[in-house]
Amino acid sequence: MTIPFVDLHAQYLTIKSEIDAAIADVIARSAFIRGTHVEAFERAWGEILGVKHCVSCANGTDALYVAMRALGVKAGDEIITTAHSWISTSETITQAGGRVVFCDTEDNTFTIDPTLIEQKITPATVGIIPVHLYGQPADMDPIMAIARKHKLWVIEDCAQAHMAQYKGRRVGTFGDVATFSFYPGKNLGAYGDAGCAVTNDDRLADWMTTFARHGGKGEHIMEGICSRMDGLQAAILNVKLPHLSAWTKARRRVAARYNELLNGVRDVITPKVAPDRDHVYHLYVIRTERRDALRKHLTDAGVSTVLNYPKALPFYPAYSYLRHAPGDFPTAYANQSCILSLPIYPEMSEEMIAYVAECMQNFSQESENAFSAVAQLTERHG
Ligand SMILES: *Cc1c(COP(=O)(O)O)cnc(C)c1O
Repeated sequence: MTIPFVDLHAQYLTIKSEIDAAIADVIARSAFIRGTHVEAFERAWGEILGVKHCVSCANGTDALYVAMRALGVKAGDEIITTAHSWISTSETITQAGGRVVFCDTEDNTFTIDPTLIEQKITPATVGIIPVHLYGQPADMDPIMAIARKHKLWVIEDCAQAHMAQYKGRRVGTFGDVATFSFYPGKNLGAYGDAGCAVTNDDRLADWMTTFARHGGKGEHIMEGICSRMDGLQAAILNVKLPHLSAWTKARRRVAARYNELLNGVRDVITPKVAPDRDHVYHLYVIRTERRDALRKHLTDAGVSTVLNYPKALPFYPAYSYLRHAPGDFPTAYANQSCILSLPIYPEMSEEMIAYVAECMQNFSQESENAFSAVAQLTERHG
């Protein structure tokens, strides 16, 4: 059996006729950039989240950049974000003119550790960007309390957490702005790049819309950028939107089955979900000390896995200028060498899940056997 890491084609087949019709409709109307499909998507996504404004962008990275520019980031401003994320979160801080200040993560949830944020705050600090990583919300209550106390803005990076909830409330509704990615592999994915920024603030929404469309149509009130969602992507997202709840449930079912089947497999820690947080499993990330050997075993058995991410952000060459040492982010550093993302997507069958689990059990059994063979030899020969 071969198990791909994700299977976008399997999902397409379940909605093929609707998707094909939506694409044909965009072409029939020549509604290629912005237009009715985009407006309909902005309205629908804002309604689902319960936020006033949804500003579509070309991708989730742009959405972060546009949000920071709207919040007035200027040279020298310090922005605190998690050490464990995809680089979009931090590279856009630099693009906007700010300075990246990394903060370590909570051990079990991989999200920014609120108890470590305050010691990073200086007079230059202007904002915090928590990431709801892998689909689990960051601990938003203490994060928002710190932000209020120090008058900082908050941007939630929701790129991996469509529809996730913290204490019964949707992520994307806590911060001043929240950003989403609709990259094809995300829980709600287009067939190309797309993203958005959402906010309840009329002034921020207006500024972001203007800035992302060349600083205004007709009258350019400023220089902006060109970051638009195209009609094909919006039409595809509109078809997918009504299915998102069921797909999220299906992801949770896959995760629950993995949890059951991997329970008791030696050396494997399955994902932990903090109380009051509700995980949407964009990724199912286990931890194990023998990660690289397990990964090879799974690859040989036809199971694709991914490292999300091979290193914590401060340890990439891109951030060598910050001169961080492993001891600055002990949790993120420890996690980077033992995390492994297993295949997860809504269309995974019971048989596929069982096969992945069986391969992991075999690996564990084989290494146990090898271990006791060595132990016996040592005992016999001293
Ligand atoms: C995917 C992702 C982004 C960026 O989204 P793009 O649409 O690929 O630009 C930002 N942050 C995180 C955490 C992501 O996973």
